[in-house]
Amino acid sequence: MSGGDGYLSSHLWDTSDLYRNAVTELLEAANVMKLDPNIAERLRVPKRAMIVSVPIRLDDGHIKTFEGYRVQHNMTLGPGKGGIRFHPEVNLSEVAGLAMLMTFKCSLVGLPLGGAKGGIRVDPSQLSRQEAQALMRRYTTEINMIIGPDKDIPAPDVGTDSRHMAWMMDTFSQEKGFAVPGVVTGKPIEIGGSLGRAESTGRGVVYTIQYAVQFLKDNGKSAPKIDGGTVAVHGFGKVGAVAAEEIYHLGAKVVAVSDASGGIYNKNGLNIPDVMKWVEKNRVVAGYKEAEPISNDELLALPVDFLIPAAIDGVITMKNVGRVKAKIIAEGANGPITADAMKDLEGRGAFIIPDVLCNAGGVIVSYFEWVQGIQNFFWSETEVNNKLAEVMSNAFKRVTDNYLKYKCGMKTAALITGVDRLNKAMLLRGLFP
Ligand code: NAD
Repeated sequence: MSGGDGYLSSHLWDTSDLYRNAVTELLEAANVMKLDPNIAERLRVPKRAMIVSVPIRLDDGHIKTFEGYRVQHNMTLGPGKGGIRFHPEVNLSEVAGLAMLMTFKCSLVGLPLGGAKGGIRVDPSQLSRQEAQALMRRYTTEINMIIGPDKDIPAPDVGTDSRHMAWMMDTFSQEKGFAVPGVVTGKPIEIGGSLGRAESTGRGVVYTIQYAVQFLKDNGKSAPKIDGGTVAVHGFGKVGAVAAEEIYHLGAKVVAVSDASGGIYNKNGLNIPDVMKWVEKNRVVAGYKEAEPISNDELLALPVDFLIPAAIDGVITMKNVGRVKAKIIAEGANGPITADAMKDLEGRGAFIIPDVLCNAGGVIVSYFEWVQGIQNFFWSETEVNNKLAEVMSNAFKRVTDNYLKYKCGMKTAALITGVDRLNKAMLLRGLFP
């Protein structure tokens, strides 16, 4: 049989825009860096996936079965790593695309980890605490043969948090007969979590914005100032709220933030710690007094210096990209800008900090949590933050070196950085059998 029939689409994986987008970006990077086509052929599909049915008894006594997934994209560099998403529209293809992004993210920041992702097709806002716990525990049991501290280590993602990780760790440990804290990261501190993990992704987003401003200045380009600069944040969850708070404390004017219920706007800048208190009580940003309402679409089109899309994928597409005016866009979420929209933005002079670099703070501190757990030796938050900044600034430098070398977009440069390390490792390990 001869190869060389190009990249055939797959009937199984590529049903979501997110997956197709990730493959398009991979192939673009492969083309620019002149990657060995045999390596690209192996990277364009996941290594393994598990689809499970997750039946639970609801509070009203009925049994309902949910669909769950865990996809391991590539484990050349180490155990799989990636979050678990609770979302009503999550599907196998989307999880596979997110797992692929995790492979490149872990590789580009230099971690000894591979890429994985999981999800359950459920609307978490409709679950009681008891139902969420039952769902997480049963899902853990269903996938327990492919996860573990040396195999694949889940973490929180959209719709899940440290409580879900505690339930997952407990269920896995009950089945083993002893405590296995290393099976998950993003755990509560009391059971082996790391200081600074909860804030790490949002904090890392703001580190990369600082590095981007400096990089532009160093290369003779105009760059907005953070102190006094204007910011809009799309998505006010674990990533968006922390990023908004961090940049607010650096003196920026965060003029708008939003969540799934809509947004709020104040041209003089929102008091972010106060908005966070409001959200703690009311769950959504809508209704906050010192602001006027704004739609998510309007927020994306604001003439701000910095835009942080930190909610979900596919929010800036060819349909709305023409209205986006921000000078620096930091992809806090995974895949918020489609590949074609990104080309359009860069063509118009916007500087984009791509997801695999911008939101890598979470997986970096997850790695620190895993390392601290293995050693049973825990670091102070200052130590965690200093090490996070060091890893992120080195990664930013590697990506911008490739950006200048290949004269390509930042996303392509980031993928080249990740794929290059993987390529060397895959060639050294060879193809079994
Ligand atoms: P989260 O569930 O804590 O928050 C998501 C936020 O987005 C919420 O405010 C929600 O209301 C809002 N949202 C959802 N749908 C929306 C819509 N259609 N329009 C506007 N807002 C909407 O999730 P998170 O952990 O903050 O994750 C956000 C993104 O960051 C995801 O893409 C995730 O994969 C990525 N990410 C998260 C981490 C992490 O450590 N949590 C790490 C890396 C990447």
